[in-house]
Amino acid sequence: MAPAWLSGAGGSNQRFMSGGGPAHYAHPMARVLLVEDDDAIRTSLSKSLTAAGHAVTALASGADGVASVARDKPDVMLLDLGLPDLDGRDVLAMVRAVSDVPVIVATARDDDASVVKLLDAGADDYVIKPFSSAQIDARIRAVLRRGGPDQPGESVLSLGALSIDPRSREVSVDGQPVDLTRKEFDLLLALSRRAGAVVTKRELLAEVWGLPWGGGDRTVDIHLSWLRRKLGETAAEPRFLHSVRGVGVKLAPPEAG
Ligand code: CA
Repeated sequence: MAPAWLSGAGGSNQRFMSGGGPAHYAHPMARVLLVEDDDAIRTSLSKSLTAAGHAVTALASGADGVASVARDKPDVMLLDLGLPDLDGRDVLAMVRAVSDVPVIVATARDDDASVVKLLDAGADDYVIKPFSSAQIDARIRAVLRRGGPDQPGESVLSLGALSIDPRSREVSVDGQPVDLTRKEFDLLLALSRRAGAVVTKRELLAEVWGLPWGGGDRTVDIHLSWLRRKLGETAAEPRFLHSVRGVGVKLAPPEAG
């Protein structure tokens, strides 16, 4: 039984396909759903993303965006939070009710509280307006890399009582399953691939968030604290996640013996 807001999917649906000549890109083309009410931004972003090899569906309203997620199953959604018909956070909640599609939110507000709320509400990443098309393309590629298949044959990683399955994306502690968000899992996996070594926040930003230029330390901190909570530990009393002040964080099994 589809919710009422999913029915009657019409709406003006501008499609910008990269059709025409053969194009060979270093990364796979993604089907990008762009929801942005500002005509100028929507048009220019559509053009640049299309030029980058993506197939872009550009819509101007939240309701159309939610309908398109259900109908078109895009690979990634770029969502402007300031929309005329629906609050961006409500759109995000509606999308999350029907889909795990990675959502990158564009917000004008760069304060801790709103960023935490967005990530908590299921956004995978965010960009602060104004942003460049290069920035957004880098983030799209990052979420697609994360969503793609992990290295074939990668086996279950065990650190003491902590078990991480890269293929099924399942985690357990002491034999009990731990329910992680996609980003929490990616963070844990990145750390587990270098278990025993200190990984800097900048390295994590590059690897997990696709932000090699840094500038989002608190994003790492927020997710680390969520991860700690789910693993049943705190920064003060670590079990697996050990902070090294001023350097980064290290995933290591509890001290033996
Ligand atoms: Ca807007």
